[in-house]
Amino acid sequence: MGRCHLGVNASTPRIMDDLPSLPLSNPANPNRRHSDTNADGIRVQKPRRAAPADAIRPTRAEVNLAALRHNLRVAMRHAGSAQVWPVLKADGYGHGAPAVARTLEQAGAQGFCVALLEEAVELRDAGVTAKLLVMGGYYGGAYEEIAARRLVPVIYDISHLEGLARAARTADHIVDVHVKVDTGMARLGVRMTDLEGFAEKVAGYPQIRVRGLMTHLACAEADPCAGSELTGYTAEQIARFNEAATRLARAGIAPRVRHAANSAAILRGIALFDAVRPGIAIFGIAPANLSTELRPAMRIRTEIVDLRTIAAGDSVGYGGLFRAACPSVIATVPMGYADGLSRTLSNRGHMIVRGRRVPIVGAVSMDMSMLDVTNVPGITLHDEVTVLGSQEGALGKDTISAEQIAEQAGAIPWEILTSISRRVPRFYREP
Ligand SMILES: *Cc1c(COP(=O)(O)O)cnc(C)c1O
Repeated sequence: MGRCHLGVNASTPRIMDDLPSLPLSNPANPNRRHSDTNADGIRVQKPRRAAPADAIRPTRAEVNLAALRHNLRVAMRHAGSAQVWPVLKADGYGHGAPAVARTLEQAGAQGFCVALLEEAVELRDAGVTAKLLVMGGYYGGAYEEIAARRLVPVIYDISHLEGLARAARTADHIVDVHVKVDTGMARLGVRMTDLEGFAEKVAGYPQIRVRGLMTHLACAEADPCAGSELTGYTAEQIARFNEAATRLARAGIAPRVRHAANSAAILRGIALFDAVRPGIAIFGIAPANLSTELRPAMRIRTEIVDLRTIAAGDSVGYGGLFRAACPSVIATVPMGYADGLSRTLSNRGHMIVRGRRVPIVGAVSMDMSMLDVTNVPGITLHDEVTVLGSQEGALGKDTISAEQIAEQAGAIPWEILTSISRRVPRFYREP
């Protein structure tokens, strides 16, 4: 029994009835706080980010477009005959969604998934013509945007239906949707007990056409495979998903495309169905080291902006968290927690300079952090510092991966990449 097995969680139920607005997915109760009865005048703002022209500081993220294309090809190979729809939520995992989408669309991606309506609008406006699936399920009443831009919303709540149908009538075309089923995440999705009731409600809206059926896996990177036989929680989820497809088909909803796989499932070749949704793998990170073929797409570099020698006993940074045991050389770099360098890396993390790994000393501050470069002969002001990625220099070659940073920061690689803030300009390069 895997550690995600239902029985483990079911034995310690927690009723959170002190949070009145928790469940939004009970089709028995359509009276909820979605403002979908008031669709007029809603404008969806696009996200904003620093432009390369804003780069006065030497801190920047470089995104390798060839690595993105390579990773897409790896995902396509693992996906077999399934379509590949990269997930570009959270600004393309921090890489800049429009540039990533344009690159991957040209390289053959057949669609993209995002979490927010705003993210889909941004991609359409950037000229992306591929299918755009909006997975988050919160539309804030902006159904006309969905219809007008031919976005594909994921629905799981009958409160979505009325507004979508009205927007379809206004736009004078049918709106395609995907239905999400909750097979074990307990996050979003029609519950297994509500499938028939939901199907019946959908049937009342001929302007809405269900083209896809999806679910999301909770433990795709963890469960054991016994030979070719998949066991554990993922197997249970897949069985429930198949059951949901059968029951919905009986109730008159038989979508052409079923999809469930995230990066971990794709790399393991499980739950591939008709389409797959790789996120982190596209950016070159393999969950649970399931692949060695992927190439990290992002590199973050900055420069030393100050260099000083301190005496034994002197302290560094806020709170004096680091105290030098012997005379030390301290370098200041303009990369702080407001740029996405977690404060938990204070006195723990590393960067690379002249090809050598050096420790972060003292507290990471908002805009800057300090490095102990005592053991870096030949160091000078303006030397390049690698925060994430590889560097080759006079003293060697080293790599700091998002996995390593995550490990040191008590985080996961997804969190590290998406934390790189908008203040860090993204630069795009071919190899
Ligand atoms: C984020 C997300 C994915 C992609 O997950 P990765 O582990 O990054 O591949 C796929 N599907 C859904 C519903 C998601 O929210």
